[in-house]
Amino acid sequence: MPGRVIDLRSDTVTRPTPEMRRAMAEAEVGDDVYGEDPTVNLLEAEAAALLGKPAGLFVPSGTMGNQIAVLCHTERGDEMLAHEESHVYYYEAGAPALLGGVSVRLLRGDRGRFGPEEVASALRGGNVHFPRARLLAVENTHNRGGGSVWEPERMRAVAAFARGAGLAVHLDGARLWNAAVALDRPPADLAAPADTVMCCLSKGLCAPVGSVLCGPGDLIGRARRYRKALGGGMRQAGVLAAAGLVALRTMRARLAEDHANARFVAEALADVPGLEVDPGEVETNMVRVGTGGWPAARFSQALREIGVLANASAERTIRVVTHHDAPRADCERAVAAFRAVAAQPAR
Ligand SMILES: *Cc1c(COP(=O)(O)O)cnc(C)c1O
Repeated sequence: MPGRVIDLRSDTVTRPTPEMRRAMAEAEVGDDVYGEDPTVNLLEAEAAALLGKPAGLFVPSGTMGNQIAVLCHTERGDEMLAHEESHVYYYEAGAPALLGGVSVRLLRGDRGRFGPEEVASALRGGNVHFPRARLLAVENTHNRGGGSVWEPERMRAVAAFARGAGLAVHLDGARLWNAAVALDRPPADLAAPADTVMCCLSKGLCAPVGSVLCGPGDLIGRARRYRKALGGGMRQAGVLAAAGLVALRTMRARLAEDHANARFVAEALADVPGLEVDPGEVETNMVRVGTGGWPAARFSQALREIGVLANASAERTIRVVTHHDAPRADCERAVAAFRAVAAQPAR
């Protein structure tokens, strides 16, 4: 029997570290809806400084952060532009339409990335037939793109073009920390072309709950009202923000280890007969594994039976996500499990 289950479904499965749990237990707190939680206030200030924006807002989830940004940048009947596989469109339960009355015009491009040309060809001008395009969303790293990183040059060019066309730019930086480590650049550099940026403290940074939305002071003031309206005004939230501070201060640099583990897994699986893996495609902490003759859902089930969890992300693709709670030894065991399943006849 295999021992402990190795969970490579997502970096969202990470648990708070002992240091976070201590910080949470000892956190100084107050009522954050009154603006009186010192730990939340400190987290918002530190996140904003790290991302080079004037103000920050602590929110319960990345989804809420993204959707508050959509609400701040648009009005009912407006349109936003986003990649067809972007989280804000693909994984947020239709929230732009549900909450904001906003339609999404979808862009195509390589693993979540596109250029000014794609934005240009999606714009339709001021004719009364068309919704007003008000917002462009960019995602870095790109989740469904397999952890792909935006080149800073391309991000700057796309944002400058969008601005010139009168659009605001929101950066879904749930994993911007991974991009910053992969590029060896400060997060603020990568966020600079965007008006607003959302980053997760959970996922690779291991905080149990929470994200931050950062941007101009007046916009964050409006964002605070939307957060209340959506039920995200939390009271003694410093208990959570305390873990977020540990995440920001101590957990970013170690993401390099997750990236090295992802490369290790990709290289180890690249020459396994029956699997299709391109190690050159691994930019951060995700690996896409083609399952050849196997439907990915069945391959995933066969892995589960021998103690390894990894989800199907497409018909014949499994996604492996490396993280803090799956160190190198776990990745080695996961590789052995992939080999064992691939050696069986496809079913
Ligand atoms: C996880 C994720 C989010 C949303 O975060 P939640 O906290 O799960 O709501 C947004 N964007 C991207 C790219 C993500 O991967």
